[in-house]
Parts: sequence; structure tokens; C-alpha cells
Amino acid sequence: MGMILEKLPGLTKGLPGGELVLTTADYLIDLGRRQSMWPMTFGLACCAIEMMASYASRLDFDRMGVIPRASPRQADVMIVAGTVCKKMADPILEIYHQMPEPRFVISMGSCANCGGPYYDSYSVVKGVDRIVPVDVYIAGCPPRPEALQYAVIKLQEKIKRMSLAKEGLATPQMEKGSRPFGA
Ligand code: SF4
Repeated sequence: MGMILEKLPGLTKGLPGGELVLTTADYLIDLGRRQSMWPMTFGLACCAIEMMASYASRLDFDRMGVIPRASPRQADVMIVAGTVCKKMADPILEIYHQMPEPRFVISMGSCANCGGPYYDSYSVVKGVDRIVPVDVYIAGCPPRPEALQYAVIKLQEKIKRMSLAKEGLATPQMEKGSRPFGA
């Protein structure tokens, strides 16, 4: 409890038999937002195997609050893991728009970042950021599960700089991926 009180910004008042902590709703909402990143898994190719390994017992993604969802309507972040074929571009965009705001995207692996080994292929999109805005890129072919966990930590740091009080509800610019992050 002492550690929680130290980390929580706000006012702490001693009461008989306990403590009363006063903080802002903004802080609590942002805390909940970044500590429960539920991903919409988008395993498209071999990188997806590394993504699945992140959820397995050795690395245990669940302990970071990252629990995969089968429905985009319950997801906060889309992890695009693998080669994005042109045929998949429309379904990716549609699923992205079905996710509630604020929504985030992690591009996992060289293929999702820029086409990777298939850069010259007629059927491969040269980066998923041509379809949806990407928040964090993970380099590698394939990146290790630890790299995906590090990407989630970086995304949590990014979300920490967001403020519901400053930004309010999603604007059309935010819908297109532009987000006013703090310094
Ligand atoms: S980046 Fe490498 S491992 Fe990942 S999907 Fe492409 S070819 Fe497969």
C-alpha cells in the first residue's frame, strides 16, 4: 500500500483506520488504459508464431495486462504480425475502424514494417503504415517475443503522455491517426 501511495499523484489524507487518496479521474483513466492493453491479434505469417510465444508460459504476456481479444470491439491495440498481402489491406482497415478509440497499432517484423523480404513482390503491401497509422515498429525477421513485450512497454510510455483532459474526445484528425502526444 505504501508503494502505491508513493506512486499515485494526488492528495493522501490519514483517516482513523486507513488512508484516503484523492487523485484526478484523468490519471485513473489513463492508468487503466495503459495497464490493460488488449490486443486484436492479427497474425498474418511467421511473425505470428513469435507473437503466440509471448502469450505462452515462459514470457506470460497476461501479467502485463495484455490479454488477446477475438473481437475488435473489445481491443485497444492491433498487433500486425507478418506479411501484409494486398488482399488483406481492406480487412485490416475495416477491423481497425471497428476498434474503439483510442486505438493503437504495433507493426511487428520487417514484413509489416516495409514489406521485408517481399519488398519487390507484386502482391505485398510495402508497410502496414500505408493502410493504418502505426504507433510502434518492431524491427527483425522475425523479432523475438521479448521485442514484442518491449514494444508494448514503449506503447505504454506513449500512452502515459496522453491526457484525456487535454485531448477530449476523438477528433477527425485523431481518427486518421494523428494524436497530440505531450512532450
Ligand atoms: S518479417 Fe520475417 S518472420 Fe516476420 S513474417 Fe516476414 S518473413 Fe516471416
